Order: sequence, then structure tokens, then C-alpha cells
Amino acid sequence: MKDCIFCKIINGEIPCSMVYQDERVLAFRDINPLAPVHVLIVPKQHIESAQALNESTSQIAAHIFSKIPGIAKELGIAESGYRVITNIGKDGGQAVPHLHFHILGGRKLETALG
Ligand code: AMP
Repeated sequence: MKDCIFCKIINGEIPCSMVYQDERVLAFRDINPLAPVHVLIVPKQHIESAQALNESTSQIAAHIFSKIPGIAKELGIAESGYRVITNIGKDGGQAVPHLHFHILGGRKLETALG
């Protein structure tokens, strides 16, 4: 997608602090971290949000979740715990319309989600 900031990161037009990548996903550090560890994991295919997942695209979500435990180990937060969040649309607080999962940890997180 031409104007998508995460597509630009994926194709190398915008630099990132990469944590993990394979042929289908990229994980990189959030530019504005909200916790000591704040990483985003995104599919390389442009999918607008989790609301756009369907029978044929949901395998990418399964792939992302299969990679998160290893990434969390690499980041040193697997034992202490962490949170995985995806924001969807305006009310969900989604700023970048390219599916992404926040991995947050490195301190005790607030319990409030709403
Ligand atoms: P969301 O509000 O769920 O759409 O989250 C978008 C996230 O992308 C925010 O936490 C931003 O700090 C992060 N972000 C935006 N631009 C960049 C960038 N160039 N590199 C890394 N993270 C970014």
C-alpha cells in the first residue's frame, strides 16, 4: 500500500529497529515506547486491521501468535509476562491502518484496559 507507513518500513523505505523477521512478518521496536519493551509485529501483507481478517487471511494471525513466544524470550520478558494488544479502528485507538500487534512488557502494566 503506497501511503502506509508500515508498508514503507517493510519495504525498507523507512528504517526500523528490527527484532525479528521471516517471509511473512516483521517485528520492530515501537518508535514511541509505552513500556520498557514495546515491539510491534506486523504481517508483510497489507491488511487494514483485525477487522479485515477472514477465513483466507486469518492464518497470518496464527503465524504471528506462533512467533510471539520466541520473540518474547529474545526480549527477556517471557518469564516476567507481557501484554499483546491490537487496536481496531477509530474507537479502538488504531493510528496506523495496517494490522499490528503491540507486545508490551518489562514492567508491571496497568490493569485497566478500557
Ligand atoms: P496504533 O495506535 O495501535 O495504530 O499503534 C501504532 C503504533 O505505531 C504507535 O505505538 C506508534 O508509536 C507506532 N509507530 C508509528 N510510526 C512508527 C515508526 N516509524 N516506527 C516504529 N513505530 C511506529
